[in-house]
Amino acid sequence: MTNLSYIQQHDKAWLTFLEQIDRVSPFLEDLKEHIDILRRPKRVLIVDVPIVMDDGSIRHFEGYRVQHSLTRGPGKGGIRYHPNVDLNEVMALSAWMTIKTAVLNLPFGGAKGGVRVDPKSLSPRELERLTRRYTSEIAHIIGPQKDIPAPDVGTNQNVMGWIMDTYSSGQGHTVTGVVTGKPVHLGGSLGRIKATGRGVYITGCAIAKKINLPILGAKIAVQGLGNVGGEAARLFQEAGAIITSIQDHTGTIHHPEGIDIPKLLDYLQHAAGVAGFEGAQVISNDDFWTTDMDIFIPAALEGQITVERAQNIKAKLILEGANGPTYIEADDILTQRNIIVVPDVVCNSGGVTVSYFEWVQDMASFFWSEEEINQRLDKLMVQVVDDVWNMANQHLCSLRTAAYILACRRILTARKERGVFPG
Ligand code: GLU
Repeated sequence: MTNLSYIQQHDKAWLTFLEQIDRVSPFLEDLKEHIDILRRPKRVLIVDVPIVMDDGSIRHFEGYRVQHSLTRGPGKGGIRYHPNVDLNEVMALSAWMTIKTAVLNLPFGGAKGGVRVDPKSLSPRELERLTRRYTSEIAHIIGPQKDIPAPDVGTNQNVMGWIMDTYSSGQGHTVTGVVTGKPVHLGGSLGRIKATGRGVYITGCAIAKKINLPILGAKIAVQGLGNVGGEAARLFQEAGAIITSIQDHTGTIHHPEGIDIPKLLDYLQHAAGVAGFEGAQVISNDDFWTTDMDIFIPAALEGQITVERAQNIKAKLILEGANGPTYIEADDILTQRNIIVVPDVVCNSGGVTVSYFEWVQDMASFFWSEEEINQRLDKLMVQVVDDVWNMANQHLCSLRTAAYILACRRILTARKERGVFPG
């Protein structure tokens, strides 16, 4: 494992990625000689984002856009607004995008952006000003053929609409393909908002079938009931699973017979979190990790499954809706305990897959029906699960390592064929 001068020893997320790369290299034969390309991002941009607040004062925010790899196509990946965003995190998230687009065989590299800000602390006008200024600061490195942002934690389709408008103003014409996850009236795709949660559900069902775990009656615990966890929980409940425990930043709720997800999602339209919901009892945040469950869906932030939690968790199957929720040492324990983990780069890839469909539709100015989008999405997700499953059986490794083998072979073959400039 090598590290970069601008990354510190405690920068866990990026170190986790480096370790994942070390683990895949024994499986890469002669492609291994190109692997250092993945150990450093192609391009890192740090920007100062000054904005005029509603009270007339000026505040500065730190923003980032990291293009980890552009080997297989333009950069692709979301923009995160969160108070803990830093360079280490954005680098790791961009690298996971490189792996994700390659596992899916989408014609993209990997990128990610972020601003260190709590979006809930800003007024709607301040949020818009922040987004527009951040966009103008990164405008010279993004574009439909260069790098295409999308929503992530703390951003949504309105934010994408402002990015599209700001970028277009600079170009002098409307450029819909510069971002994905836009509102449908601005060239967005049907099905994009629900795509990540839907992908978690489809990949989860496909793996559950392979390990003979019936969804009907399965007990499921979910961490994070946002865009991803909410839709996944809704679909699993519709299929007959019992959502017994839910945790978010406000607390943990539990109901042995199942929490009514549509009711809870309705409640969350106006509430800050799950804590005050009446259709379940409150349990402690620690107890969440040892409740009875067949399936666990981490759908919040990275670094949630620690060694201790991995030792005690009762799930047979873990579906990583979030990016990077499992520490590397915890991952080993889950493997030893025969707990199947569908890794983030597969499990939550429904979002970037429909982003790809959106980008294609924008290029062609020809839009598909939601049914067509979901059919294509489901087919691709089932296919990727099969590919990763077969690779894992062939090499007797975890699904994560199998996904990395598939992805790294594609990326490094492209690298090899392109050659190094100047030769
Ligand atoms: N932020 C999402 C992810 O982590 C979506 C990225 C995209 O659509 O480009 O996969």
